[in-house]
Amino acid sequence: MTTHRPGAPLKVALLGAGSVGAQTARQLIERREELSQRIGAPYELIGIAVRRLDAPRDVELPAELFTTDAEGLIDRADIVIELIGGIEPARTWIERALRQGKDVVTANKALLAAHQVEIFQAGREGGAETWYEAAAAAAIPIIRPLQDSLVGDRIQRVLGIVNGSTNYILDRIDTAGITMEEALDEARRLGYLEADPTADIEGHDAAAKATILAGLAFHTHVPREAVHTEGITRLTGEQLVDARRDGFVVKLLAVAERLHAGTPDEAVNVRVYPALVPHDHPLAAVHGGKNAIFVEAMDAGDLMFYGAGAGGVETSSTVLSDFVLAAKRIVRGAPAEFITFDAHLRIADIAEVASSWQITLHVDDQPGVLEQIAAVLARGDVSVRALHQSALEDAQVDGARLVIITHHAPEGVLRRVVALLGDLPAVRSVVGVLRVEGE
Ligand code: NAP
Repeated sequence: MTTHRPGAPLKVALLGAGSVGAQTARQLIERREELSQRIGAPYELIGIAVRRLDAPRDVELPAELFTTDAEGLIDRADIVIELIGGIEPARTWIERALRQGKDVVTANKALLAAHQVEIFQAGREGGAETWYEAAAAAAIPIIRPLQDSLVGDRIQRVLGIVNGSTNYILDRIDTAGITMEEALDEARRLGYLEADPTADIEGHDAAAKATILAGLAFHTHVPREAVHTEGITRLTGEQLVDARRDGFVVKLLAVAERLHAGTPDEAVNVRVYPALVPHDHPLAAVHGGKNAIFVEAMDAGDLMFYGAGAGGVETSSTVLSDFVLAAKRIVRGAPAEFITFDAHLRIADIAEVASSWQITLHVDDQPGVLEQIAAVLARGDVSVRALHQSALEDAQVDGARLVIITHHAPEGVLRRVVALLGDLPAVRSVVGVLRVEGE
């Protein structure tokens, strides 16, 4: 563990000077006096490790701080701030710092989702703490509320809109009536999407964040592979219009839920998918690129954390707060705190989760079709709560679009029922199946 000599400046190493790193460096330099006061000791930014010394930067920073020798920089530092992203070399460098007893501040959700157990272990070995408030929802404080403020409560469910790009796209389709392709183009133009948008639109980014949140909420390590993940690419604009007519908004949700609470079979399930959220749920009012995390706790009740889930300067706020807290801990000589996943809840398969469903079918518009569909649903014990039928405009022979909202049914049952519906001769296609969350 780093020991601090009174009066000596804490040596800070920054790895990365991209969107978040450059803003963090700027503030570490510009607000040095103010932040030192909050820490109770001076600090010095001793270097910034990057890949290319001559790359253009978002802000002007002293050239003499830049280096490509990250390991040398880490070895000279008291605290390391990792803002490179990705798995390697970030993992090796973070573990190197932790094993040397140096606290690490990181915003790296992809790395934590994949290797948090190993990273926390490296910290335990070195007596150093990992600070990662920015890794789940950027500027929104949610790690410490789950880890500290709610540690005495029992969390039932966490529902998060944790990917701003997909929220922007779905919100634009819903509120401006544009198509998925138009919304994707617009999001790309406005910089909401990366050059390779796969991580966002296929739900992988949200799943990484869900893993991190679930671990804290349920004191149980949830491996990334256990998170059922669906993105927004198979959604159609019509599904969003149907949802609106029925009193819902479609959102890409990260859901972590306690199942079978209070029984010996208690378990946790974590999943990411586009889902229908009732219009009057607070998450339905999260527009544009904003993020929000809705926490249902046994005693505290419902809590919502809302704000910017991305952005270099916004994220630097959380990174700097972690830095101040890490530095204060070192100055006080307080022991490091470690995350313990000590509840060991069983990780439940999504087949165990029950929800209401929106099933969209294209069917032949003939007498008897509804009866056939009702019979399949009844055999699966799935009851219907709403049904809408409309003519298919572009059908060559008479066709209809059927939107069925069901009452609660387990995922496993519903999947079997949907497969049987798809096999009915009168069903031309199963257009989509979405769950309802937040009721
Ligand atoms: P970025 O803009 O891509 O910047 C990455 C930085 O890391 C660049 O300065 C790059 O150096 C440096 N780097 C990459 N590989 C390196 C290597 N092998 N050796 C040395 N330096 C290397 O990334 P970012 O958007 O700032 O994101 C940083 C982290 O914050 C990621 O973990 C990300 O998930 C997380 N995060 C970002 C946001 C956001 O809104 N951007 C929000 C929340 C969390 P060069 O400049 O020389 O290429």
